[in-house]
Amino acid sequence: MRIEFEKFIQEAKLRSPLQGFKQVTQRVEVRKDPLSGGLCRINVERAKRPKQIPPETTELNKLIESSKVKCFFCPDNIEKMTPMFAEGLPDRIRVGDAWLFPNLFPFGGHHAVGVFSKDHYLKLNQFTPKLLEDCFKGCLKFFELVHVQHAEIKYWHINWNHMPPSAASIIHPHVQIFADPRPTPRLRELIEQSKAYHEREGNNYWSDLVDIERSNKERFIGETGPVTWLASFAPQGNKEITAIFSDISSLAGLKGRALSGFCAGLSSILEGYHAIGVQSFNLATFSGPCDEDLGELYLLNARLISRPNPAPFYTSDNGFMEKFHREPIIETMPENLTEKLRAHF
Ligand SMILES: [Zn+2]
Repeated sequence: MRIEFEKFIQEAKLRSPLQGFKQVTQRVEVRKDPLSGGLCRINVERAKRPKQIPPETTELNKLIESSKVKCFFCPDNIEKMTPMFAEGLPDRIRVGDAWLFPNLFPFGGHHAVGVFSKDHYLKLNQFTPKLLEDCFKGCLKFFELVHVQHAEIKYWHINWNHMPPSAASIIHPHVQIFADPRPTPRLRELIEQSKAYHEREGNNYWSDLVDIERSNKERFIGETGPVTWLASFAPQGNKEITAIFSDISSLAGLKGRALSGFCAGLSSILEGYHAIGVQSFNLATFSGPCDEDLGELYLLNARLISRPNPAPFYTSDNGFMEKFHREPIIETMPENLTEKLRAHF
C-alpha cells in the first residue's frame, strides 16, 4: 500500500502508588504521520492523571456574563466599535446574521474577523449549518474582493480559535481570516509533500487517504456531500479531526455542495465535541492557491483540535513537547474518538 500507518510501541514500567505500589505497565504509541513523517506520542492513561485544577462551570458562566457587558461583537456595539474596511471595499460585509470587518490589530495585510451571529456565547452543539454557512459565505466574499484588487494574494485562510484556552481573546464566537501572498510554512510543507507523493506514487495523497480510511473504517467518521471527516492517525493535537474535500484544492471552490457539505459536517463534529465535553478548540483550513487547480495532487483540507476547558486556571496542553520538540503528547486514541463522533453523523 502506498500509505503506511507506522507506529512504534514503548512500554513504561513503574510501581504505582495508585495501585498499592504494584508494578504496572503503560503503553505508549509513537505514531508517524503518513504524509509528513511528523511524530506524536499517545498514552491514553494520561487522560486519567489527576489534574490539580477541577473543571469549573460557575466560573465559566461568570466569564460569559462579565464579558458580555462591553463586548465589541454584540449587536449594540458591533457598528460602533468594530473597524470598517479601507476605501475600495464595502464598510463591512453582512450575510444573514454574520458580520465581517477588518481585524483591529492585524498580523497581515489582509486580516479580517467574521462574527457568526448576535449570540454572545454559543455551546458547541448550537452551531447550526446555516449559521456556519452564512459566515463562511462572508469570508469568501472578503477573499474575492481582496483578490480582485490584488491578484498576487493567493493564499486564503479561515481560522477559528474558540474560547480563551485556544487563544481567543474575545468570547463572542468569531473566525479570523487572512489572505497572504505566501503560504504559511505548514501549508507549504503540505503542498510540497503532496507533490512528492504524487511524483512517487502517481496519485493524490488525499484521495488515497480517504480511500484507505474508508475501507479500514478505524478512523472514518463520516461523509457530508463531497467532504470526508477522519480522526487523524498521528494527531498534532488532542482529538484531531481532518476534513478532506473530494474535488477542490482551494477555498475558492468553497461554494455550492462543498460549502453546504462542509458546514453540515462541521456542525456534526462540533455537536460530537460538545457531547464528549469539549468546550474550546482550534480550526484551520489548508488551501492551495486560489487561482490554480492543484486537484491532481492536493485537496483542500481542514483540521480541528480540542483545547483544555476554560477555567480560571487550567493545565495547558502546550508544553515543551509541543512548543519545542514538535512531538505532541496525545491523550485519546483516534480510533476511540472515531466511534464517539460517528454517532453524530
Ligand atoms: Zn458579544
